[in-house]
Amino acid sequence: MITRNPCIANIKAGYLFPEIARRRREFTTAHPDAKIISLGVGNTTEPILPHIGWGLVEGARQLATPEGYSGYQDEGLLSLRKRISRVFYKEDFDADEVFISDGAKCDIGRLQLLFGAGAKVAVQDPSYPVYVDGSVLSGAAGRWNGTGYAGITYLPCTAENNYFPDLAALPEHGLLYFCSPNNPTGAVATRGQLEALVKGANAKGLVIIFDAAYSEYIRDPALPKSIFEIEGAKTCAIEVNSFSKPAGFTGVRLGWTVVPKDLKYAGGESVNADWARICGTIFNGASNIAQAGGLAALDDEGLLEIRQLCDFYLGNAKLIRTALCDLGIACVGGENSPYVWARFPGRDSWDVFAEILEKCHVVTTPGSGFGPAGQSFIRFSAFGHRLDVEEACKRLASLKS
Ligand code: PLP
Repeated sequence: MITRNPCIANIKAGYLFPEIARRRREFTTAHPDAKIISLGVGNTTEPILPHIGWGLVEGARQLATPEGYSGYQDEGLLSLRKRISRVFYKEDFDADEVFISDGAKCDIGRLQLLFGAGAKVAVQDPSYPVYVDGSVLSGAAGRWNGTGYAGITYLPCTAENNYFPDLAALPEHGLLYFCSPNNPTGAVATRGQLEALVKGANAKGLVIIFDAAYSEYIRDPALPKSIFEIEGAKTCAIEVNSFSKPAGFTGVRLGWTVVPKDLKYAGGESVNADWARICGTIFNGASNIAQAGGLAALDDEGLLEIRQLCDFYLGNAKLIRTALCDLGIACVGGENSPYVWARFPGRDSWDVFAEILEKCHVVTTPGSGFGPAGQSFIRFSAFGHRLDVEEACKRLASLKS
């Protein structure tokens, strides 16, 4: 029989969320009457708003007409690529630098094909698990050493460094996954920090894969929403983004990746041309219905709905943050992001998770699941119905005793 890809055996994740689900099941079995509320996952809960929903319906209807029918669109509908460039990048990118995807996670998984198993990978610690897991699957991560992967440089982002990594530790000629607003910490990098990051990346020949999936949650106008707001980023960065969290497209599946033509490998070859090749080879494009929804999301009415939906979740985040602050629990995030990152000094994340589940019947996410530096933290997600979030916040008061 054929042997298993050893990279799959090397993957440690898939552990966090199944373990949370297992503990939740165990608790429900022991307490069948408990009404559990989840502030654990990053899945959206509110319906898609009417104008964007109409765009999806209309996209489907068009496909059933001779004049509106369309088939494969390879890197995406030209109209959507142009609109993304206009809405998010002041038309600073040509349409062939914007690639439409079936979601940011899918592109994050595919992007490592550009750099191969020999790439030196660095991540913010803690970080969204797919950066590390994708590196494990591509063979770039090396062996698991008990706390992390030997081939990955973990850049701690802690309260002590204000959740921004020490740039001196960036590997040369490698790949850095950088997420702002950050999942899980909710921290947003400032313009000055991103300027230093871009400068460091260009100096070290490093490529940044900048994950801006939560950029529409930024309310502070001083904070950059895209790495391409920073001069010099076109020669060192790729940006992934998504309609999932701003438009509620987690189940629709639509995102995009910007690969500038100025980005070159050490040998001078074009990264953009290779990405077009990869997309044409193993990905045949996002659903045309989803793309019609994306076009509706990015017209004037759609952008207002995006603002409204993000404001709703930010309202939840504010309630969670206030409830935690009232208890004297130090936290960051939740102001320009849908995640609140709460600190429980000296404690194990899983013990705090268990305490919150037992005392409040609220499911959260243990910070240690996002990387070694997440130990002693808990991530609270603002994706939930308002009544559930209000009830969960009331129950958090039981943590006082
Ligand atoms: N990037 C980050 C930082 C995320 O937290 C998530 C989902 O939780 C994604 C990407 C996934 O986006 P998509 O639904 O477009 O695959």
